[in-house]
Order: sequence, then C-alpha cells, then structure tokens
Amino acid sequence: MTILERFIKYVKIDTQAVEDSSTFPSSLKQLKLADLLVEELHSLGISNAFRDEYGYVYAKIEGSKPQTVGLIAHMDTALEMPDENVNPQVIESYDGKDIILKNGLAIKVSEFPFLAELVGKKLVTTDGNTLLGADDKAGIAIIMQLLEVLPQIKEPLPSLFICFTPDEEIGDGTKYFNYDLFKVDFAYTLDGADIKYINYENFNAASAHITINGKSIHPGEAKDKLINSMEVAHEFHSMLPHEAKPEYTSWYEGFNHMTGISGCVQQTTMSYIIRNHDLKLFNEQKELFKSIASKLNEKYGEGTVVLDLQDSYMNMAELIKPHFEIVQYAIDALALHGIKAEIVPIRGGTDGARLSYGGILTPNLGTASYNHHGAMEIANITQMEQMVEVLITMLTKVIK
Ligand SMILES: [Zn+2]
Repeated sequence: MTILERFIKYVKIDTQAVEDSSTFPSSLKQLKLADLLVEELHSLGISNAFRDEYGYVYAKIEGSKPQTVGLIAHMDTALEMPDENVNPQVIESYDGKDIILKNGLAIKVSEFPFLAELVGKKLVTTDGNTLLGADDKAGIAIIMQLLEVLPQIKEPLPSLFICFTPDEEIGDGTKYFNYDLFKVDFAYTLDGADIKYINYENFNAASAHITINGKSIHPGEAKDKLINSMEVAHEFHSMLPHEAKPEYTSWYEGFNHMTGISGCVQQTTMSYIIRNHDLKLFNEQKELFKSIASKLNEKYGEGTVVLDLQDSYMNMAELIKPHFEIVQYAIDALALHGIKAEIVPIRGGTDGARLSYGGILTPNLGTASYNHHGAMEIANITQMEQMVEVLITMLTKVIK
C-alpha cells in the first residue's frame, strides 16, 4: 500500500471523539479504526498486535539494538467540525495558488504563508465540509508505512513498541494507557505539524473554579447590606492582569483564560484555565488567584469567594531537558535529510506530557500536516513519505 492509499483509508473512517461520554473510548466508532489497524499489523507479520478493552492498539517489533523506542499516534479526531463522510481531495502537485475547496471555501496564501513551502508537493485536503483528520491519521499512516518497510531494512534496529491511542482530543488519550505493556526507554508521539518542528515543551496547566456567594436583599433596602455576587465576580476578574489573556499572548507567554461565567445576585460561578511554560510564573499565577480570593473574603466576609484550584498537566520540558539526547536524535535525523529542525513550544498539552510524567519521556514529532481541527486541514503526502525516511535514519543511524 502507498502512504497516500493508507492515509485516505484511515481518514474515511469517522473516529471523532465525544465530550462527556459514558463510554471509553468516548465514541465506539474509534474501535473500527483500531480493529482495522490490528488487522493490518497482523498482515504485516506483526502477530502480537492487539486491541485492548479500552480501544488502545499495541504492537511490538523486536530489534537487535539494546534500546526500545516507542512510537505513538492517536486515532480519534477533533470535535470542531464533522468527521463524517470525509471526501479527500488529492492535489498531485501543488501550484502555490490559493486552494479552492469543492464547497467554495478557500485556503488562502495571504492567510497561510507556509503554503509557499508546499509548492510541488502532493497534498490532500477536504471538500470543505468536514475535518480531514490528518490530526492524527497522518501520524498513524507514517508509523504504519514505517512498519511496512521495516523488514527490508538490513541495518540493526532498536526494538519498537507501537501504540495507537483513543480520545486524545478530549484529553483522555493516556487515561487507560498500559505502562506495564509499553516497556520503552523513551518514546515519540507523532502528532505535530510540519516535520521540521519538534516539541518537547508544553504548558503547565491548572483550572480554577470560583464560586462567589452574594447576599441578596431588596434593592430598596440594600444600602450597606447587599452583596451582589456578579459585582464581586467583576472585581475578581479585574484584579487579574489585563494582558495575560490568550488573545494577547504567544510563544512562551502564559495566560489566565476565563472559560465560563454564570450568575445572579445571590451566586456567581466563574471558570478559568491557567497556563504557563515557566513553572515559577505558573505558580505565581495560581498564588494570585489565592490572594485575590482572600482579599475579597477580607472585604466581604469569609466564604464569599470559594476557590477550587486543580492542576491539569505539567510541562514535560522539566523532565526531558536532562535527557536532551532523545530530542537530539530527531534533530540529527532531520539534518541528515537536509531539514533544519525547529523547536516550537506547544501552547497546550500533549499525551507526551502525561506520558513523560508517567515515566516515559515522550517528545512530539511532526506529521506533515497543517491547519488541524478545521475544514482547511492539509496533509502533505510528499513530506509524510520523507518522514518515514527520517524515522528510518533515526532508528538505524542516529540511535546507536
Ligand atoms: Zn493530534
């Protein structure tokens, strides 16, 4: 099978995750792709491949080098657009112009300057009505293609563990990950963008839920008695730094993002997500939430502001920096293919971050795809083929 055929086969299977599901995986249709992958792995001669009760697909390929390396990609797709009836459009050789999708939607060069780097490449887009699901089926196709060509490689290889995970898009990708089955020295998620990008830094993340208890009294008799919880909520919000918001920040700048507010005079609830790559600044942001809560409680009375702060995930950079060689392997392999790697901080979390804190250091590599989570997604088939070669170089030549 070519990587293009493989990729198209995978994206045509709807694997969209579902929020607030009572099942795991969140949508049982993800199992259809999982079972197909197991079947394909078997047909490649990898007879130990299997899917577990949670939908995770595992496989192991013995190598002759002492290391064991993990490769991971996720099967589910994002929730922002439908993943049903994906109708992939192949562009044999991209001409550098705006890409007009079948439904009239345009992927414009003026809006996406990186398109200039894709001239001459074989691309796949949607027809404009759905996601493509290159996030992360491009990652799956790259790994499967690698496994198909692996038997032809004569040089020694490390042992490989493969895992295809469900429900990454809803933050549950590692929820039932079986660490006992996945005994590796380190791993990579293939869940990024252009293959020149390597990610090993993600946000430290927490959430804050704030309940403000007011005191409702008839407005005619309210003087010196009424506490309007919505006013206190407004006061709370105005004590946070105005510029530290997602819409004003980029790269390594952190933020506090209000994700929900609802209230009446008696009670208001607010939700925030707190993000920063820098652990010290992240802790200072959390401290600020605590100090605002206590100041307002001093002013309006104990119990007015109830703050619930929860950590969500942590920056894997703290763990990976002392073992930077695993990032260097990818940098060196890309360099041997004439590609200068760029390290890009992730303004979010990854399954790799959770795995790193679970004991498997897992930086993230590119999958030759762009504009994830929308109808303007693009997969770069030419570069996906190249990524298979980069991985082979990394496994055979770079990892000693
Ligand atoms: Zn992804």
